[in-house]
Amino acid sequence: FGGDEFVILQSTPSRRQDSGRLARRLVKALAVPFDVDGHRIDIGASIGIAVAPKDGIDADELIKNADMALYAAKGNGGGEHRFFAAEMEERAQARRALELDLRDALAHDELEVYYQPLVDLQTGRITTCEALLRWQHPERGYISPTEFVPIAEETGLIISIGEWVLQRACQAAATWPTGTKVAVNMSPVQFRDRSLGARVVSALAKSGLSAQHLDLEITERVLLEESDNTLYTMEQLKVLGVCISLDDFGTGYSSLNYLRKYPFHKIKIDRSFISDLGQDSDAPSIVRAVAGLGNSLNMIVVAEGIENEEQLKQVREEGCHEGQGFLFSRAVPADVILEKLLQPPPPKRPGLVAVA
Ligand code: C2E
Ligand code: MG
Ligand code: MG
Repeated sequence: FGGDEFVILQSTPSRRQDSGRLARRLVKALAVPFDVDGHRIDIGASIGIAVAPKDGIDADELIKNADMALYAAKGNGGGEHRFFAAEMEERAQARRALELDLRDALAHDELEVYYQPLVDLQTGRITTCEALLRWQHPERGYISPTEFVPIAEETGLIISIGEWVLQRACQAAATWPTGTKVAVNMSPVQFRDRSLGARVVSALAKSGLSAQHLDLEITERVLLEESDNTLYTMEQLKVLGVCISLDDFGTGYSSLNYLRKYPFHKIKIDRSFISDLGQDSDAPSIVRAVAGLGNSLNMIVVAEGIENEEQLKQVREEGCHEGQGFLFSRAVPADVILEKLLQPPPPKRPGLVAVA
């Protein structure tokens, strides 16, 4: 049908179940790894189904609705089939509206970059501030990046938005007291783009920030693809002297192979583990294990999402080096973070151990 998409026309399914059964068989058959000249190839498939006459009576409408069901099937992580449902149409419309608004937002300066500090757990000093996108929608109010970043990734708009964040963040960091770094989140789509290296060089040159003061945060999603472009970009950034941190560690594949293969500067333990610390759970053991791993690999271990003193005490005991979370500060506008950075650290900051 185009690219890696195929259409199956099942002309006389006696029941809806027939299509479901065929879809299950196809998914199962394609989930098996293929051997091509000694290389293992995993493809897998997702399937969307529209049934006439309920979901449409002409080819265009059926294909459009099957495509929407396919989208829903992929959204669940793939490897399954979904039948079209009317809510899918509504959701798709809402997404399209959000996408258009997002384009406007970029053009009309509705987006902002806020900064959240990462704190050295021994000294209480701010080592880095993470740049976080903020969008105040004129009608809908605040929209979280967890909602709009995925849409920007799908439409490719994240390339321009990401470049804008990078430039803003570098400009802000260039005014900070020396030694304070800025961390910028990078989506897999940005990493796939072969010009990322050039964009980084340009942002650094325009702002006058040195490469050592820029930290790029990526998640395992970037590494999953292992495409030539991703490796090429990682190499380029390394040569430039830009640090790369592994974000949200523990939520994805948490592959030890990645840790061995890529010289990460930091590992950030996902905040879900930190919020579970108080509960009777495996979280403390996991935090301890990751901290140990980071220590032996010479990586800085950061605990994300520290909200109270108890969590702070625990992550420190488990061997984390840095912390980030509402206990220290939420993400704040550029002028507020600058003020914070210029202040001498108060004698007793929340979470700072009393060392004489
Ligand atoms: P992230 O990179 O893991 O960022 C940390 C998120 O945790 C931020 O959410 C931050 O506000 C939140 N957080 C920090 N401390 C605490 C805490 O103590 N408690 C709780 N409950 N939350 C805390 P935010 O700003 O909503 O961003 C969510 C995600 O959106 C980010 O996760 C990142 O993946 C993505 N994102 C944000 N800005 C950008 C950007 O400029 N580019 C890209 N590609 N993604 C971005
Ligand atoms: Mg991050
Ligand atoms: Mg994170």
